[in-house]
Amino acid sequence: MEHFYTIQGEGFHQGKAAYFIRLGGCDVGCTWCDVKESWPFDAHPYYPIESLITEVKKTNTKMVVVTGGEPLLHNLDTLTNALHTEGFHTNIETSGSSPLSGSWDWICLSPKKFKRPLPEVLLKANELKVIVYNKTDFAWGEQFAAQVTPNCKLYLQPEWSKAAAMTPLIVEYIKQHPEWELSLQLHKYINVP
Ligand code: SF4
Repeated sequence: MEHFYTIQGEGFHQGKAAYFIRLGGCDVGCTWCDVKESWPFDAHPYYPIESLITEVKKTNTKMVVVTGGEPLLHNLDTLTNALHTEGFHTNIETSGSSPLSGSWDWICLSPKKFKRPLPEVLLKANELKVIVYNKTDFAWGEQFAAQVTPNCKLYLQPEWSKAAAMTPLIVEYIKQHPEWELSLQLHKYINVP
């Protein structure tokens, strides 16, 4: 769908320079999705992997974030192998709702109610990022925290349109449950992609 150089605004790698590759197509259908234009599978241009790598090489970053849409609707073996061959770190942002492909240095799994994550992807997650849209999402998120490995980082992130109401609740929840950390959509606060 698009590719661009910016900073990672969310989660464990928040604040780091990263090249984003956003793949078209999503079958999850979150009501609050902020990239609904990504949903159609075939409405986006195709880029040769070599041309994407050429663009990444023009930057100073070693971190490539593959996102969507739901990137795991695509088989990502060839893309990630090519990125690794060129010495890049491969990160993915996924709902975990489709089978895992690709070779990843960091898997950020953000579970969605509209199509649940697969247990096999939860077990591979380095980072679990739960979007908090209402009060019941804390208990909803805990069921997935119980399914990831002990080393998986746990983040609570307010849904953007609900941030004013949910952020204070998240702060209180984290004070009670310090295994969780706060993730904010930093890129939206500083107005970068
Ligand atoms: S999984 Fe991501 S891209 Fe797909 S609908 Fe949900 S927020 Fe949007």
